Amino acid sequence: MTQAFSKVTAIRGMNDALPGASARWEQLEEIVRNWLQAYGYRNMRAPILEHTRLFTRGIGEVTDIVEKEMYTFTDSLNGESLTLRPEFTAGMVRAAIEHNLLYDRPQRVYALGPVFRHERPQRGRYRQFHQIDVEALGLAGPDIDAELIVMSARLWKRLGITDVELEINSLGQGDERAAHRAALITHLEQYKDILDEDGLRRLYTNPLRVLDTKNPALQAMADAAPKLFDFLGEASRTHFDAVCARLTDAGVSYRLNPRMVRGLDYYNLTVFEWVTHKLGAQATVCGGGRYDGLIELLGGKSAPAVGFAIGVERLLDLWSQYQPEILSPECDVYIVHQGDDAQRRAAVLAETMRDAGISVIVHAGAASFKSQFKRADASAAAIAVILAADELADGVASVKLLRVAQQTPDTAQLRIPLDDLVAFLKDKVK
Ligand code: ATP
Ligand code: MG
Repeated sequence: MTQAFSKVTAIRGMNDALPGASARWEQLEEIVRNWLQAYGYRNMRAPILEHTRLFTRGIGEVTDIVEKEMYTFTDSLNGESLTLRPEFTAGMVRAAIEHNLLYDRPQRVYALGPVFRHERPQRGRYRQFHQIDVEALGLAGPDIDAELIVMSARLWKRLGITDVELEINSLGQGDERAAHRAALITHLEQYKDILDEDGLRRLYTNPLRVLDTKNPALQAMADAAPKLFDFLGEASRTHFDAVCARLTDAGVSYRLNPRMVRGLDYYNLTVFEWVTHKLGAQATVCGGGRYDGLIELLGGKSAPAVGFAIGVERLLDLWSQYQPEILSPECDVYIVHQGDDAQRRAAVLAETMRDAGISVIVHAGAASFKSQFKRADASAAAIAVILAADELADGVASVKLLRVAQQTPDTAQLRIPLDDLVAFLKDKVK
């Protein structure tokens, strides 16, 4: 008797990208790598798993991520607390410190990959999602803040995305935030009786985050709260103005959003987000800012830094609204064959085609011409090559142009001498 096993499915909020959808991912990744290279950013890869304390310290105890979104578990072998990275910055900075990356010069680096947050899954909000993370380590000036923002604008342009808006703010420096914090606590204390559980807990630990509320009942309280921007000293304002001036130079328009605090604790001075109305409730495609204190906080020699992260799933969703179709043929050439000799010859020929940079699928196994041609068509190959006893006897291959621009007028099959075949195909597929 055969036993039926229950199906094992993916974890909720963690998505598969099947070949069709994956083609869009790959195309995006290629565009993204070129775009990053254009600004001198280099790829860096850090582990997905880190010590939990890296994130509690680096992101901050009183943040959504650390309080409730991390996948944390105990390593059963040694009892250590480990966490799947919920973002890149802390790990990138850890690696930079550990390998003394900043000892002789600043570093422009990026990483691309999955991050994990235990959130309620919905459109644009997943438990495993992907980020493009860009960091400029060791650079202090407003020029670099602006360069990063202008750079992000270039990516939207490259992808043909128009409906995104830039919001920026300045979080100033520690002492300015302290003065604002005191004023804010005084303000918030008036609303103690209507604050929700999160709000009450954060009132004295992280009052700025109390304002980061989606609760409509708390909106009036948030609107009337003293604004950090009004507490900025001269240096912070000068930095902010310099960023804005450079954005204007580059023709990038922006909106000051004095309420934006960003979800993480470590930011100072410039913070920014790119938002869109085309993604439903999850409006933010990209967020970032300056975090001059983080490197020292994580045990490195004090150095400034600024960066941003793009949510890849949200970006893909948005991009697909501008470019609905991504062509992804399985190969350039699909070889159909009849008979054992022809099949073996096809395998050898395919290797010589691949030597020439042509991608090839040789029909696997034996089947009727009809069903092989069906497969060839489904593969979206540009060309079908046909090999059977008849062709082998004449030292030729039959060739059918399926999707080649400037098709030869008659759709009949061409007969190409085997010696000329690779050159012929190369000419057609390039
Ligand atoms: P949100 O306010 O939407 O929760 P966040 O402030 O937590 O965003 P960041 O930590 O700044 O987000 O992460 C950078 C980007 O990653 C976001 O702008 C967004 O595009 C994307 N992102 C964040 N959380 C998720 C998620 N759970 N699923 C998919 N993308 C996400
Ligand atoms: Mg979040």
